[in-house]
Formats: sequence, C-alpha cells, structure tokens
Amino acid sequence: MKAAMLYGVKDLRIEDVPKPTVQTGEVLVKIRAATTCGTDLKILNRGYVEKIIKLPTIFGHEWSGEVAETSPELEWPTKGMRIRAGNSAPCLHCTMCQQGKYNLCENMIWLWGAYAEYIKIPARMVLVNTQEIPEHVSYEEAAITEPLACVLHGAEEANVKLGDTVAIIGAGPIGLLHLLTAKKMGAAKTIMIDLIQERLDFAQKLGADATVNSGKEDATTAVHSLTGGYGADIVIEAIGLPATWEQALKLVRKGGTVLEFGGCPPGTQIRLDTELLHYGEVAVRGAFHATPVHFRKALSLIASRTIDVRPLVTRKMKLDTLPTAFDILSTSKSEIKIAITP
Ligand SMILES: [Zn+2]
Ligand SMILES: [Zn+2]
Repeated sequence: MKAAMLYGVKDLRIEDVPKPTVQTGEVLVKIRAATTCGTDLKILNRGYVEKIIKLPTIFGHEWSGEVAETSPELEWPTKGMRIRAGNSAPCLHCTMCQQGKYNLCENMIWLWGAYAEYIKIPARMVLVNTQEIPEHVSYEEAAITEPLACVLHGAEEANVKLGDTVAIIGAGPIGLLHLLTAKKMGAAKTIMIDLIQERLDFAQKLGADATVNSGKEDATTAVHSLTGGYGADIVIEAIGLPATWEQALKLVRKGGTVLEFGGCPPGTQIRLDTELLHYGEVAVRGAFHATPVHFRKALSLIASRTIDVRPLVTRKMKLDTLPTAFDILSTSKSEIKIAITP
C-alpha cells in the first residue's frame, strides 16, 4: 500500500509498504480522510518526544475510514462500517488510569499511520477508543475528532464558565477550536491574539468578538483595554512557545485562570512572577491530550454541529502530494487544515 513514511526531521517520503495484517482483536481500516495537524508540522520541522513517536513510522494521527477487515471473533465493528479511532488508548490499570486520569496513562499506546491507504487499529484501541461515524458526518469532519477531544479536555481544565471573557493566544487550528468551544461553553467575550492578520480575520469570521495583532500592538495593553483594565477571566495559550506561555500570564485578571495548552520544545522553562500567584491568586494549568470520554464527546459535538468544524478544512489534497501540503502549511497564512485522501 501507499504510505507517507517519516524518517526524521524534514524527511518524509511517499513509499510502498506492506499492508498490515489483522491479528486477534484488531481491525483494518481503509482510510478515507486524514487531516493535517499543528503537531504533525512540529514533528516534521523540529522532532518530537520518542515516547510518543518512534521513527521510522507512517506519519499522521487524525483520520477516519471504512472497516476493511476485522479479527473474526469481534462482533463490533463490522465490515464496511464508517469509523474513527485513537490516536491513543490508555491501559485502564495503571495508577493514573485508576485515578481517572486516562490521558496521563503510564502505558498509553499511540497510533500513527493516518497518511496511508490502510491503518490497523490495535486491540486495546478497538475496545476503548473507536467510534462509529454517523451517516451525515463527512470523513474530513470525523478526522477532526482528535484535536477537538484535546481542546475539550483543555477547556474543562480551564473551567470556562457562562459569561467569561476568554483570551486565546494563537489563531491556528487549535486556537480556533478553542474559540468555537469557549463560545459554546458560554464565553461572553472572546479575544483572539496572533501575529498573522489573515488568521485573525478568519477567527473573526468564526465568531471572535475581538482580535489583537500582537505584531502591530502590545497584546497586554490591548487585552487590558478590552477588559476594563482587569485582564481576561481565562487565557489560553495555543501556540507552544515559552515566550507566549509567559505572555499568557500577563493577560489574565486577578483570580483568573491561565491554561498553558501548547506543548513547548523539550527542556524549556518559563519565568513566573510569584506575586501573580500569591497576591493575584492566578491559577496556572496545563493540559495534555484527552481521554476516551473526550473523543466520544468530540465526535458527538461534530455530528450535532454544536461545534462546526467544517470551515477548518481549507484545502483537499492527495496522499502523493503530502510533502507539498506541509510546505503549504509552513508558508501559507490562510490555510488551516488540509484534508488528505489516499
Ligand atoms: Zn492532531
Ligand atoms: Zn494506564
């Protein structure tokens, strides 16, 4: 089968590889759509944690498709069923899982291989993180379940409440999903901050109440003037750089919450003003990945169009042209997510 193999930083090749064979409990899926992700771009351009991705591997983690073959003893899913799965499955028996922190599982399995003709779902993932896609939901939409699941987990950690002012740093795919989610959770005012004007214009079309171009104006001053001098109730960092993690701390009001959502390069640190935590009672939260419940909820929200992810797919391309797709995403100011079909 055709697949996009990742060998290392900036080394992505379209190759012919053996089609996976199904073992006990496993399911083989014919991929119908895979969506590009900011994480993919980070991995391709700067590398990633080895615990999560071991190279070489077939690349990509957001996908959906049609069941091609199942292990004979499985009653579900059935051949031909439209499904999505993963990209993770917790073990359910480690201490973190038994605390209900499935996203922090010590024995998590990760599934890569979205940019290919077929993908094989491991047995544990078939049981805990595979869902059927409702008929009216497109494959592209269903592929976006994974990033939305992560955003839902983050929004829960940030505890967005009815009437809150939410400032989001970064108007890329993840920042935009945070915007859509915060609005549905009841944010009265949303403020998007980015350096790229085209992205801010897009955020405005999706319903952002205010936008701040931090290349042209000081974000701290702008957010304070948009919030009566106080700062936002909740600030979400959706870029993954120490500088923007620190910036997030300057935009929050006393007693507010900062959600540091974007993963920074390994080994990095930030400086934190102790007075902010003590006299300002600011809560600083992190959020990593999602649990199977979030994946299930994300697909339901996509299906009901409570969170309409359709505008986020700004281009469709073929698997053969995947390296070009990443070039486009690295340089374009207006592309959000590209849907890749085999
Ligand atoms: Zn993703
Ligand atoms: Zn576990």
